[in-house]
Amino acid sequence: MRKMPLSPNLALTMSGNAEFVQRDLAVLWHPCTQMKDHEWLPLVPIRRGRGAWLEDFEGKRYLDAISSWWVNLFGHANPRINAALTGQLGELEHVMLAGFTHQAVVELSERLVEIAPPGLSRCFYADNGSSAVEVAVKMSFHYWRNRGDTRKTRFITLSNSYHGETLGALAVGNVPLYKETYKPLLMDVITVSSPDCYTRESGDDWESHTRKMFTHMEQALAQHHQETCAVILEPLVQCAGNMRMYHPVYLSMLRRACNHFGVHLIADEIAVGFGRTGTLFACEQAGITPDFLCLSKGLTGGYLPLSVVLTGDEIYQAFYDDYPKLTAFLHSHSYTGNALGCRAALATLDIFRDDGVIENNRALAAHMRTAAASLAEHPHVAEIRQHGMILAIELARDRNTRSAYAWQERRGLTVYRHALERGVLLRPLGNVVYFMPPYVITPAEIDLMITVAAEGIELATCD
Ligand SMILES: *Cc1c(COP(=O)(O)O)cnc(C)c1O
Repeated sequence: MRKMPLSPNLALTMSGNAEFVQRDLAVLWHPCTQMKDHEWLPLVPIRRGRGAWLEDFEGKRYLDAISSWWVNLFGHANPRINAALTGQLGELEHVMLAGFTHQAVVELSERLVEIAPPGLSRCFYADNGSSAVEVAVKMSFHYWRNRGDTRKTRFITLSNSYHGETLGALAVGNVPLYKETYKPLLMDVITVSSPDCYTRESGDDWESHTRKMFTHMEQALAQHHQETCAVILEPLVQCAGNMRMYHPVYLSMLRRACNHFGVHLIADEIAVGFGRTGTLFACEQAGITPDFLCLSKGLTGGYLPLSVVLTGDEIYQAFYDDYPKLTAFLHSHSYTGNALGCRAALATLDIFRDDGVIENNRALAAHMRTAAASLAEHPHVAEIRQHGMILAIELARDRNTRSAYAWQERRGLTVYRHALERGVLLRPLGNVVYFMPPYVITPAEIDLMITVAAEGIELATCD
């Protein structure tokens, strides 16, 4: 047999990190990044992942404590999801979903309807979280039009909220760092103060603060309900908004008020869905059903881009009529309902069903709480807060006055760099160090993640 030269691909796998970094920086533009930072901030090339760990081209391993931007649930290269995808690959990779359907999308929709809060009986697919938010926003607006109400053109949103980066999603979000520049391009929204419990007065507990903050929402609804299509919010945790949290009572009060004022409720569970807050969906903790439920991120276990908006029959029926009436929802994305994405999602739901995940997570969440407890006394830790599998540590210049470090100091970046050196992937948001690990993490790995974070916090706050 003729001796084959090394294929270029094989040659690549044999080289170290530096080559990839160099080639990357010559041709890529990375998301959410000031590219100039990479003159001194090392880019991390990953060769493979296994369970909660990532590995670079020189064999160094990193514990993925933030689930690769909150998407991974059951580890990298999960054998069960891999097997499901391999099976699907042999049958069908993709088919357009207009006029056509396939087994994976039908099964997934049945399963989602079964496990979602009662009353959500229809699934509309898109291919990422922002697109799901666009779908919910357009559907709500369009519902009111189809019902003959053309006054409703606006949306109510919370301060410090995040719903994605496309223009509609950015408009209904509120994190200034991402939004401010694009303001001239965005629709005008009504912004209500967030129930964020970090801002509560000392002596107030989460519930009473959350109840108090609802008066702002009540007022906004009373004043604007006639022109408002929907309220959109992230149930329980404003994740991109520095992991700020609030009490579930806000959701039950909001459900009641939305019913009273004739306004939709859009629950964006793109980040908090699939067990992150301790229940499969965060809305369960208030026993409510939103009019629209947006899901993505963990939906495919962190494997493939897929999103879905669930809604109820009453809304579905408002679009259902003879074609010439032009009441149909004529929205689509090329990869809507992709078969591989749906199959990964089904395998993910199987794991939830078969492994008692939500129950096991209770022990992991309790372990995180105990392991992080000693940090509560740190002179620059103003708060440790937790909802289920999300735990956040808020750093402050002064823990008593809660005066924040200036953002320009980039304290979180010191934690990030230290953790990388120690083999843990953390990615603090501003002055907030947080953990959102995949559910396959072990108690010993939780200890490592929190020890390393504590070292990083010490380094970042020692001057
Ligand atoms: C990540 C996120 C989005 C946007 O999802 P993408 O897939 O990144 O577009 C929307 N809402 C929330 C709450 C998110 O955390």
